[in-house]
Amino acid sequence: MLELISHIVQISSRRDRTEINEAMVDSLLDLFHPQRVTIYRSYAGSKKAMVFACAGFGSNGRFLRNAYLPEHLYCQPIERDPLLNRCRKELSAVLDVLDDGSHRVIFPVIRLNEPVYLIDLWLSEEFSADQRVTLMGLIDYFGNHIALLDYGEADTLTGLASRKTFDKHLFELLGKAASDNRSGNAKESRRSQKADANHWLAVCDIDKFKLVNDNFGHLIGDEVLIMLAQVMNQSFRFDDQLFRFGGEEFIVLLQPTDEKFALAALERFRSNVEKQLFSRVGHVTISIGFSALLPSDTPTDVIDRADEALYYAKRHGRNRVNCYEKLVADGEVAAKEIAKGEVELF
Ligand code: GH3
Ligand code: MG
Ligand code: MG
Repeated sequence: MLELISHIVQISSRRDRTEINEAMVDSLLDLFHPQRVTIYRSYAGSKKAMVFACAGFGSNGRFLRNAYLPEHLYCQPIERDPLLNRCRKELSAVLDVLDDGSHRVIFPVIRLNEPVYLIDLWLSEEFSADQRVTLMGLIDYFGNHIALLDYGEADTLTGLASRKTFDKHLFELLGKAASDNRSGNAKESRRSQKADANHWLAVCDIDKFKLVNDNFGHLIGDEVLIMLAQVMNQSFRFDDQLFRFGGEEFIVLLQPTDEKFALAALERFRSNVEKQLFSRVGHVTISIGFSALLPSDTPTDVIDRADEALYYAKRHGRNRVNCYEKLVADGEVAAKEIAKGEVELF
Protein backbone atom coordinates (compact mmCIF):
# COMPACT_ATOMS: atom_id res chain seq x y z
CA MET A 1 0.00 0.00 0.00
CA LEU A 2 2.75 2.47 1.01
CA GLU A 3 4.69 1.50 -2.08
CA LEU A 4 1.67 2.24 -4.26
CA ILE A 5 1.17 5.64 -2.65
CA SER A 6 4.82 6.55 -3.10
CA HIS A 7 4.57 5.71 -6.82
CA ILE A 8 1.41 7.77 -7.20
CA VAL A 9 3.22 10.69 -5.55
CA GLN A 10 6.04 10.26 -8.08
CA ILE A 11 3.68 10.28 -11.05
CA SER A 12 1.67 13.21 -9.70
CA SER A 13 4.80 15.35 -9.35
CA ARG A 14 5.48 15.26 -13.14
CA ARG A 15 4.07 17.83 -15.57
CA ASP A 16 5.35 16.48 -18.85
CA ARG A 17 4.04 13.44 -20.74
CA THR A 18 7.51 11.93 -21.23
CA GLU A 19 8.34 12.25 -17.53
CA ILE A 20 4.94 10.90 -16.52
CA ASN A 21 5.55 7.85 -18.72
CA GLU A 22 8.93 7.32 -17.13
CA ALA A 23 7.41 7.36 -13.64
CA MET A 24 4.59 5.08 -14.78
CA VAL A 25 7.04 2.50 -16.18
CA ASP A 26 8.96 2.62 -12.86
CA SER A 27 5.74 1.98 -10.96
CA LEU A 28 4.62 -0.88 -13.17
CA LEU A 29 8.04 -2.59 -12.94
CA ASP A 30 8.28 -2.14 -9.21
CA LEU A 31 4.76 -3.17 -8.31
CA PHE A 32 4.00 -5.92 -10.83
CA HIS A 33 7.39 -7.22 -12.11
CA PRO A 34 6.24 -7.71 -15.74
CA GLN A 35 8.61 -9.37 -18.25
CA ARG A 36 7.83 -6.55 -20.62
CA VAL A 37 5.84 -3.38 -20.55
CA THR A 38 5.08 -0.83 -23.27
CA ILE A 39 3.21 2.46 -23.03
CA TYR A 40 1.78 3.31 -26.43
CA ARG A 41 0.34 6.64 -27.43
CA SER A 42 -2.59 5.93 -29.68
CA TYR A 43 -3.71 8.21 -32.50
CA ALA A 44 -7.09 7.88 -34.18
CA GLY A 45 -5.76 9.38 -37.42
CA SER A 46 -7.96 10.52 -40.30
CA LYS A 47 -7.16 7.36 -42.27
CA LYS A 48 -5.33 4.79 -40.17
CA ALA A 49 -5.09 4.45 -36.40
CA MET A 50 -1.45 4.46 -35.29
CA VAL A 51 0.45 3.63 -32.12
CA PHE A 52 3.76 5.03 -30.92
CA ALA A 53 5.78 2.98 -28.40
CA CYS A 54 6.93 5.89 -26.23
CA ALA A 55 8.15 4.20 -23.04
CA GLY A 56 8.64 0.78 -21.57
CA PHE A 57 10.86 -2.11 -20.65
CA GLY A 58 11.82 -4.96 -23.00
CA SER A 59 14.59 -7.36 -23.95
CA ASN A 60 17.02 -4.41 -24.28
CA GLY A 61 16.07 -2.91 -20.94
CA ARG A 62 14.23 0.34 -20.43
CA PHE A 63 13.41 2.81 -23.17
CA LEU A 64 11.99 6.31 -23.05
CA ARG A 65 11.14 8.54 -26.02
CA ASN A 66 9.79 12.07 -26.23
CA ALA A 67 6.05 11.46 -25.91
CA TYR A 68 5.22 14.64 -27.85
CA LEU A 69 7.31 13.81 -30.92
CA PRO A 70 6.37 10.42 -32.38
CA GLU A 71 9.39 8.92 -34.15
CA HIS A 72 8.52 7.01 -37.31
CA LEU A 73 10.79 4.17 -36.39
CA TYR A 74 8.66 3.37 -33.33
CA CYS A 75 5.22 3.99 -34.84
CA GLN A 76 3.05 1.42 -36.54
CA PRO A 77 -0.51 0.99 -37.76
CA ILE A 78 -2.41 -0.47 -34.82
CA GLU A 79 -3.93 -3.23 -36.96
CA ARG A 80 -0.47 -4.84 -37.26
CA ASP A 81 -0.87 -6.02 -33.67
CA PRO A 82 -4.22 -7.83 -33.39
CA LEU A 83 -4.39 -7.66 -29.58
CA LEU A 84 -3.71 -3.90 -29.53
CA ASN A 85 -6.32 -3.50 -32.23
CA ARG A 86 -8.86 -5.53 -30.26
CA CYS A 87 -8.24 -3.36 -27.21
CA ARG A 88 -8.86 -0.26 -29.32
CA LYS A 89 -12.10 -1.65 -30.75
CA GLU A 90 -13.49 -3.07 -27.50
CA LEU A 91 -12.36 -0.10 -25.41
CA SER A 92 -11.67 -2.40 -22.49
CA ALA A 93 -8.82 -4.49 -21.13
CA VAL A 94 -7.95 -7.53 -23.28
CA LEU A 95 -5.96 -10.63 -22.37
CA ASP A 96 -4.06 -13.27 -24.30
CA VAL A 97 -2.22 -16.37 -23.06
CA LEU A 98 1.03 -16.72 -25.00
CA ASP A 99 2.64 -19.98 -26.18
CA ASP A 100 5.06 -20.09 -23.27
CA GLY A 101 2.17 -19.77 -20.79
CA SER A 102 2.82 -16.12 -19.95
CA HIS A 103 0.00 -13.60 -20.01
CA ARG A 104 -0.27 -10.47 -22.09
CA VAL A 105 -2.78 -7.91 -20.91
CA ILE A 106 -3.51 -4.51 -22.46
CA PHE A 107 -5.40 -1.66 -20.80
CA PRO A 108 -6.76 1.35 -22.69
CA VAL A 109 -6.81 4.92 -21.40
CA ILE A 110 -9.92 6.34 -23.04
CA ARG A 111 -10.87 9.89 -23.99
CA LEU A 112 -14.03 10.71 -25.96
CA ASN A 113 -14.50 7.09 -27.00
CA GLU A 114 -10.99 6.73 -28.37
CA PRO A 115 -8.01 5.24 -26.57
CA VAL A 116 -5.28 7.86 -26.15
CA TYR A 117 -2.86 5.45 -24.48
CA LEU A 118 -2.56 1.67 -24.42
CA ILE A 119 -0.62 -0.01 -21.64
CA ASP A 120 0.71 -3.40 -22.62
CA LEU A 121 2.05 -5.81 -19.97
CA TRP A 122 3.60 -9.26 -20.34
CA LEU A 123 3.43 -11.25 -17.11
CA SER A 124 4.92 -14.60 -16.20
CA GLU A 125 1.75 -15.69 -14.45
CA GLU A 126 -1.81 -14.66 -13.97
CA PHE A 127 -2.55 -11.85 -11.55
CA SER A 128 -4.26 -12.23 -8.21
CA ALA A 129 -7.55 -10.36 -7.89
CA ASP A 130 -5.84 -7.86 -5.53
CA GLN A 131 -3.08 -7.11 -7.99
CA ARG A 132 -5.61 -6.64 -10.73
CA VAL A 133 -7.54 -4.06 -8.70
CA THR A 134 -4.31 -2.23 -7.83
CA LEU A 135 -3.19 -2.19 -11.46
CA MET A 136 -6.53 -0.90 -12.71
CA GLY A 137 -6.49 1.82 -10.05
CA LEU A 138 -2.99 2.88 -11.07
CA ILE A 139 -3.95 3.02 -14.75
CA ASP A 140 -7.08 5.07 -13.93
CA TYR A 141 -4.91 7.44 -11.96
CA PHE A 142 -2.46 7.72 -14.88
CA GLY A 143 -5.38 8.51 -17.24
CA ASN A 144 -6.76 11.19 -14.92
CA HIS A 145 -3.37 12.82 -14.54
CA ILE A 146 -2.91 12.93 -18.33
CA ALA A 147 -6.43 14.39 -18.70
CA LEU A 148 -5.52 17.21 -16.30
CA LEU A 149 -2.34 17.85 -18.22
CA ASP A 150 -4.28 17.98 -21.51
CA TYR A 151 -6.69 20.43 -19.94
CA GLY A 152 -3.79 22.72 -19.07
CA GLU A 153 -2.03 22.37 -22.41
CA ALA A 154 -4.91 22.60 -24.88
CA ASP A 155 -6.51 25.74 -26.26
CA THR A 156 -9.96 25.85 -24.67
CA LEU A 157 -11.82 26.97 -27.81
CA THR A 158 -10.41 24.61 -30.45
CA GLY A 159 -8.83 21.79 -28.42
CA LEU A 160 -5.57 22.19 -30.39
CA ALA A 161 -2.31 22.56 -28.48
CA SER A 162 -2.00 26.11 -27.18
CA ARG A 163 0.61 28.82 -27.52
CA LYS A 164 1.80 27.86 -24.04
CA THR A 165 3.09 24.49 -25.21
CA PHE A 166 4.34 25.73 -28.55
CA ASP A 167 7.65 27.18 -27.35
CA LYS A 168 8.47 24.05 -25.37
CA HIS A 169 7.73 21.78 -28.36
CA LEU A 170 9.67 23.94 -30.75
CA PHE A 171 12.71 24.09 -28.47
CA GLU A 172 12.62 20.29 -28.19
CA LEU A 173 12.37 19.94 -31.93
CA LEU A 174 15.20 22.42 -32.52
CA GLY A 175 17.33 20.56 -29.99
CA LYS A 176 16.59 17.35 -31.82
CA ALA A 177 17.43 18.84 -35.22
CA ALA A 178 20.75 20.05 -33.82
CA SER A 179 21.62 16.70 -32.26
CA ASP A 180 20.58 14.75 -35.39
CA ASN A 181 22.84 17.06 -37.28
CA ARG A 182 25.79 16.41 -34.97
CA SER A 183 25.49 12.61 -34.74
CA GLY A 184 26.06 11.67 -38.36
CA ASN A 185 25.23 8.02 -37.78
CA ALA A 186 21.79 8.53 -36.22
CA LYS A 187 19.12 6.77 -38.24
CA GLU A 188 16.85 9.82 -38.36
CA SER A 189 19.74 11.92 -39.52
CA ARG A 190 20.72 9.51 -42.28
CA ARG A 191 17.18 9.54 -43.51
CA SER A 192 17.03 13.32 -43.35
CA GLN A 193 20.24 13.78 -45.28
CA LYS A 194 19.32 11.26 -47.93
CA ALA A 195 15.86 12.65 -48.57
CA ASP A 196 16.93 16.26 -48.07
CA ALA A 197 14.22 16.32 -45.42
CA ASN A 198 13.59 19.05 -42.88
CA HIS A 199 11.04 19.77 -40.25
CA TRP A 200 8.88 22.64 -41.51
CA LEU A 201 7.00 25.33 -39.67
CA ALA A 202 3.91 26.85 -41.27
CA VAL A 203 1.94 29.87 -40.10
CA CYS A 204 -1.69 29.78 -41.24
CA ASP A 205 -3.89 32.88 -41.00
CA ILE A 206 -7.56 33.25 -41.89
CA ASP A 207 -8.19 35.72 -44.71
CA LYS A 208 -10.27 38.79 -43.86
CA PHE A 209 -11.43 37.28 -40.62
CA LYS A 210 -12.30 40.69 -39.25
CA LEU A 211 -15.11 40.82 -41.82
CA VAL A 212 -16.52 37.54 -40.49
CA ASN A 213 -16.72 39.04 -37.01
CA ASP A 214 -18.10 42.32 -38.32
CA ASN A 215 -20.77 40.66 -40.44
CA PHE A 216 -21.79 37.73 -38.26
CA GLY A 217 -20.59 38.56 -34.74
CA HIS A 218 -17.86 37.20 -32.54
CA LEU A 219 -19.67 34.00 -31.53
CA ILE A 220 -20.10 32.87 -35.12
CA GLY A 221 -16.46 33.87 -35.64
CA ASP A 222 -15.55 31.51 -32.81
CA GLU A 223 -17.55 28.74 -34.49
CA VAL A 224 -15.46 29.21 -37.63
CA LEU A 225 -12.30 28.81 -35.53
CA ILE A 226 -13.61 25.56 -34.04
CA MET A 227 -14.53 24.16 -37.44
CA LEU A 228 -11.23 25.25 -38.92
CA ALA A 229 -9.41 23.29 -36.21
CA GLN A 230 -11.44 20.21 -37.21
CA VAL A 231 -10.50 20.63 -40.88
CA MET A 232 -6.91 21.05 -39.74
CA ASN A 233 -7.00 17.81 -37.74
CA GLN A 234 -8.40 15.96 -40.75
CA SER A 235 -5.87 17.45 -43.17
CA PHE A 236 -2.60 16.51 -41.49
CA ARG A 237 -0.92 13.31 -40.41
CA PHE A 238 -1.11 12.05 -36.85
CA ASP A 239 2.50 13.03 -36.16
CA ASP A 240 2.32 16.61 -37.47
CA GLN A 241 1.80 19.02 -34.60
CA LEU A 242 -0.97 21.57 -34.69
CA PHE A 243 -1.27 24.68 -32.53
CA ARG A 244 -3.59 27.61 -32.13
CA PHE A 245 -0.97 30.31 -31.93
CA GLY A 246 -3.12 33.38 -31.44
CA GLY A 247 -6.62 34.64 -32.30
CA GLU A 248 -7.04 33.42 -35.87
CA GLU A 249 -3.49 32.21 -36.45
CA PHE A 250 -2.51 28.55 -36.43
CA ILE A 251 0.85 26.85 -36.62
CA VAL A 252 1.76 23.47 -38.07
CA LEU A 253 5.04 21.70 -37.35
CA LEU A 254 5.54 19.16 -40.10
CA GLN A 255 7.54 15.98 -39.66
CA PRO A 256 10.71 15.73 -41.75
CA THR A 257 9.95 15.76 -45.44
CA ASP A 258 11.17 17.61 -48.50
CA GLU A 259 9.82 20.93 -49.73
CA LYS A 260 7.60 19.36 -52.38
CA PHE A 261 5.73 17.17 -49.88
CA ALA A 262 5.51 19.94 -47.28
CA LEU A 263 3.93 22.18 -49.93
CA ALA A 264 1.54 19.39 -50.97
CA ALA A 265 0.39 18.82 -47.37
CA LEU A 266 -0.19 22.53 -46.78
CA GLU A 267 -1.95 22.92 -50.15
CA ARG A 268 -4.25 20.07 -49.17
CA PHE A 269 -5.15 21.92 -45.97
CA ARG A 270 -5.68 25.22 -47.81
CA SER A 271 -7.90 23.53 -50.37
CA ASN A 272 -9.88 21.59 -47.71
CA VAL A 273 -10.64 24.90 -45.97
CA GLU A 274 -11.69 26.51 -49.25
CA LYS A 275 -14.09 23.61 -49.94
CA GLN A 276 -15.57 23.51 -46.43
CA LEU A 277 -18.97 25.09 -45.82
CA PHE A 278 -18.76 26.99 -42.53
CA SER A 279 -22.42 26.86 -41.48
CA ARG A 280 -23.80 30.42 -41.52
CA VAL A 281 -20.67 32.09 -42.83
CA GLY A 282 -20.32 30.06 -46.02
CA HIS A 283 -16.81 29.91 -47.39
CA VAL A 284 -13.61 31.01 -45.70
CA THR A 285 -10.04 30.94 -46.99
CA ILE A 286 -6.62 30.88 -45.37
CA SER A 287 -3.14 32.00 -46.38
CA ILE A 288 -0.05 30.03 -45.37
CA GLY A 289 3.65 30.82 -45.18
CA PHE A 290 6.21 28.16 -44.33
CA SER A 291 9.93 27.70 -43.81
CA ALA A 292 12.40 24.93 -42.96
CA LEU A 293 13.60 24.50 -39.37
CA LEU A 294 17.37 24.97 -39.18
CA PRO A 295 19.50 23.43 -36.41
CA SER A 296 20.79 26.92 -35.55
CA ASP A 297 17.31 28.50 -35.33
CA THR A 298 15.68 30.09 -32.35
CA PRO A 299 11.87 29.92 -32.41
CA THR A 300 11.76 33.61 -33.40
CA ASP A 301 14.03 33.00 -36.43
CA VAL A 302 11.85 30.36 -38.02
CA ILE A 303 8.56 32.11 -37.22
CA ASP A 304 9.90 35.34 -38.77
CA ARG A 305 10.76 33.53 -42.00
CA ALA A 306 7.38 31.76 -42.19
CA ASP A 307 5.67 35.11 -41.43
CA GLU A 308 7.57 36.77 -44.27
CA ALA A 309 6.18 34.14 -46.66
CA LEU A 310 2.71 34.60 -45.13
CA TYR A 311 2.81 38.37 -45.74
CA TYR A 312 3.83 37.67 -49.30
CA ALA A 313 0.79 35.38 -49.68
CA LYS A 314 -1.44 38.10 -48.19
CA ARG A 315 -0.02 40.73 -50.56
CA HIS A 316 -0.45 38.49 -53.58
CA GLY A 317 -4.13 37.68 -53.44
CA ARG A 318 -4.53 35.53 -50.26
CA ASN A 319 -5.89 31.94 -50.30
CA ARG A 320 -2.43 30.64 -51.22
CA VAL A 321 0.61 28.87 -49.80
CA ASN A 322 4.14 30.31 -50.07
CA CYS A 323 7.48 28.84 -49.10
CA TYR A 324 10.07 31.27 -47.74
CA GLU A 325 13.06 29.41 -49.24
CA LYS A 326 11.41 29.31 -52.68
CA LEU A 327 10.59 33.05 -52.52
CA VAL A 328 14.23 33.80 -51.67
CA ALA A 329 15.50 31.52 -54.46
CA ASP A 330 13.16 33.23 -56.93
CA GLY A 331 14.31 36.68 -55.81
CA GLU A 332 10.79 37.57 -54.59
CA VAL A 333 11.90 38.40 -51.05
CA ALA A 334 15.30 39.29 -49.65
CA ALA A 335 16.96 36.63 -47.49
CA LYS A 336 16.79 37.47 -43.79
CA GLU A 337 20.08 37.84 -41.97
CA ILE A 338 20.35 35.21 -39.31
CA ALA A 339 21.52 37.19 -36.29
CA LYS A 340 23.85 34.83 -34.49
CA GLY A 341 24.99 35.38 -30.95
CA GLU A 342 22.88 38.50 -30.52
CA VAL A 343 21.20 38.91 -27.20
CA GLU A 344 17.47 39.33 -27.56
CA LEU A 345 16.02 42.00 -25.34
CA PHE A 346 12.40 41.61 -24.38
P1 GH3 B 1 -6.02 39.29 -43.29
O1 GH3 B 1 -6.55 38.58 -44.47
O2 GH3 B 1 -5.05 40.35 -43.65
O3 GH3 B 1 -5.45 38.34 -42.29
O4 GH3 B 1 -7.28 40.05 -42.63
P2 GH3 B 1 -7.88 39.80 -41.19
O5 GH3 B 1 -9.12 40.61 -41.09
O6 GH3 B 1 -8.04 38.37 -40.92
O7 GH3 B 1 -6.68 40.29 -40.30
P3 GH3 B 1 -6.58 41.10 -38.98
O8 GH3 B 1 -5.32 40.66 -38.29
O9 GH3 B 1 -6.74 42.55 -39.28
O10 GH3 B 1 -7.81 40.63 -38.10
C1 GH3 B 1 -7.84 39.49 -37.34
C2 GH3 B 1 -9.16 39.49 -36.66
O11 GH3 B 1 -9.38 38.24 -36.01
C3 GH3 B 1 -9.27 40.51 -35.55
C4 GH3 B 1 -10.27 39.91 -34.62
O12 GH3 B 1 -11.54 40.49 -34.83
C5 GH3 B 1 -10.34 38.46 -35.02
N1 GH3 B 1 -10.09 37.54 -33.93
C6 GH3 B 1 -8.92 37.33 -33.30
N2 GH3 B 1 -9.08 36.40 -32.32
C7 GH3 B 1 -10.38 36.01 -32.34
C8 GH3 B 1 -11.16 35.07 -31.59
O13 GH3 B 1 -10.68 34.39 -30.68
N3 GH3 B 1 -12.47 34.93 -31.92
C9 GH3 B 1 -13.03 35.68 -32.92
N4 GH3 B 1 -14.32 35.47 -33.20
N5 GH3 B 1 -12.32 36.55 -33.64
C10 GH3 B 1 -11.02 36.74 -33.36
MG1 MG C 1 -3.92 37.60 -38.20
MG1 MG D 1 -6.29 37.12 -40.79
